[in-house]
Amino acid sequence: MLISLIIPIYNEEKNIYKLAETIQQTMDKHHYHYEVMLVNDGSKDRSLQLLKEIASQHHNFKYISFSRNFGKEAAMFAGLKNCSGDCAIILDADLQHPPEFIPEMIAAYQEGYDQVVMRRDRSGEHFLRKIPTQIFYKLINSAVDVKLTDGEGDFRLISRDVIDSIVSLEEYNRFSKGIFEWVGYSKKTIPFKNIQRESGQSSFSSLKLIDYAIDGIISYNNKPLRICFYLGSITMVLCLLYILMTLIQIMTHGIDEPGYFTIISSVLFLGALQLFSLGIIGEYIGRIYFETKKRPHYIIKDTNIERSAGESDEN
Ligand code: UDP
Ligand code: MG
Repeated sequence: MLISLIIPIYNEEKNIYKLAETIQQTMDKHHYHYEVMLVNDGSKDRSLQLLKEIASQHHNFKYISFSRNFGKEAAMFAGLKNCSGDCAIILDADLQHPPEFIPEMIAAYQEGYDQVVMRRDRSGEHFLRKIPTQIFYKLINSAVDVKLTDGEGDFRLISRDVIDSIVSLEEYNRFSKGIFEWVGYSKKTIPFKNIQRESGQSSFSSLKLIDYAIDGIISYNNKPLRICFYLGSITMVLCLLYILMTLIQIMTHGIDEPGYFTIISSVLFLGALQLFSLGIIGEYIGRIYFETKKRPHYIIKDTNIERSAGESDEN
């Protein structure tokens, strides 16, 4: 059984050696057959140089390096797409996802689970990050069909079936937390205690987290567009009722003010019709929006993995 470890890396020069060492110790201790996919996501520090050093010393360390920073989602996608393991474990490079848990995860995988999810608590986290996160989960779970759980992130083991399913989803705006849930399969959750970053700073600022939240909401539904549609339908029905009522009034009581009725009813009705049509157009554009962005998720500039002939650097 081959185990692939997928590690997205962005400016982690201080953590890379310690990470590689911990991984090696853990994997060798249990005599696992493994490969490590180090994905350099356009780091601006010496990360790439260190990755190359490690890859040249140890044959089971492979690296993929992007032409620029494409984001953690793209880095994970590249790792999953290029790994050849029977299962894959996704880890952060900052040692917040301790490799020590790997044996426990593999044991659960051998029990037959397709996804083994590590769920962390939020101990030691700043309240300015804790509270917005809680609001985010409340919001997203009320709006979206795919349910997300607080504390469950990318730290997980997934079987080959899950990897293949995930890789087959080519959507551009990737929101992994949702994708992992969306594909389904049997799942086991293992809780663990939150650990602070070993070294360096989190690259997810509050603003980036808000972007992430918007992605989470937008990629799983088109509710905002639909609101337009409903608003249009409701106004149109109300407007028709008004016209009908006034018409009946005119027929029974006669006209008090000539011209008023025709003007107001045509303005109201046209307004409602326009809103309604906009809503319908919005629904179509929403669908097109999701489909048209067929851009590559990332561009590979440098790698030591062998890729089959004809495969381009863009993916
Ligand atoms: N990361 C990445 N690309 C980015 C930002 C982050 O590959 O644009 C990697 C980073 O190197 C780390 C993981 O994603 O391995 C998680 O990042 P970070 O620790 O900054 O996030 P947090 O733990 O605060 O959620
Ligand atoms: Mg981190």
